[in-house]
Amino acid sequence: MSKTVLITSRSFGQVSEEPLNLLKKNNFEVNFYNQTYDEEKFINMIRNYDALIIGAHEFCRKAIERARRLKIVCKHGAGLDNIDLEAARQHNIMVTNVPATNSNAVADIAFGLMLDIARQISYGAGRVKQGSWDRIIGTDVCNKTLGLIGFGAIARNVAKRAAGFGMNVLAYDPFVNNLSDGFSYVKLVSFEEVIMQADFLSIHVPLNKNTRNLIAQQQLDMMKKGSFIINTSRGGIVNEEDLYTYLTNGHLAGAGLDVTEKEPPTGSPLLKLHNVTILPHIGMYSKEAINAVSLICARNVVKMFNGELLENIVI
Ligand code: NAD
Repeated sequence: MSKTVLITSRSFGQVSEEPLNLLKKNNFEVNFYNQTYDEEKFINMIRNYDALIIGAHEFCRKAIERARRLKIVCKHGAGLDNIDLEAARQHNIMVTNVPATNSNAVADIAFGLMLDIARQISYGAGRVKQGSWDRIIGTDVCNKTLGLIGFGAIARNVAKRAAGFGMNVLAYDPFVNNLSDGFSYVKLVSFEEVIMQADFLSIHVPLNKNTRNLIAQQQLDMMKKGSFIINTSRGGIVNEEDLYTYLTNGHLAGAGLDVTEKEPPTGSPLLKLHNVTILPHIGMYSKEAINAVSLICARNVVKMFNGELLENIVI
């Protein structure tokens, strides 16, 4: 009997047929679940599948407990905050992800957001389309201090871009003690120092119980007056209510967000601020990154059932 794969990641195979063909060639029966996510519907479906390629929606304990046939979950991306890893471990379901593969794509978006909010690029372009021709005075990015919270794959690629802009780069990461070759221009400092020194603070940590609300009133208050914040990691790491307060009281000059607590952020007061750019969580969506991530997921599903060694096993 052929094995079944459920794909709930909407970007899987969007760039080329290669990942889907790989599954089909290996006799997998592949189904997509592309509608708006409905937990009950998903829970009812997942019990019929041997493998799951998942995007951003929740894979909770209740769903995992019903997934009696499931042998493997491949995260179509890096962040694992939507999967109950403990429940998966207890039910002997292997979990893989695809770290580092999309880090250039996300770093481009982080750096793009930084330029955008510093020079108000998308705001200015929107004004021109409305018939205005304003003189918008922005802030230079070059020669400023970039503060990185987290110094993993994405942050390192942001640092490389910042070096080209002559930025002074500070980073805080409690799990990184020394810098590998090629990052001599980055200074590892304390959390407080990064926050206090940064003209641009860019967040690159996973969302977990230690990082939820990592940047809230106390930290925003410590930031320089007129500084900017960029979040391409996960909504919930920057407290949005406090961010709104510090953007509207003039303490912060702007914010660039690829991620928000609620996605889409319908009704968020942040949407009304001209100095905030919010993107629809597109960090990893470059053609190159999507194709590479889809291929790794498809290969892992095939390898799992062929008894071969998988890439990026989490549990
Ligand atoms: P990574 O694992 O390579 O790096 C994360 C770093 O954060 C690690 O070095 C870790 O030591 C550090 N860290 C953990 N807890 C910390 C804390 N409390 N303070 C400071 N540092 C801490 O991951 P990555 O590939 O760089 O991705 C970072 C995050 O970006 C992911 O967890 C994911 O949530 C998010 N992401 C977003 C998109 C997007 O589309 N916007 C795409 C991919 C990843």
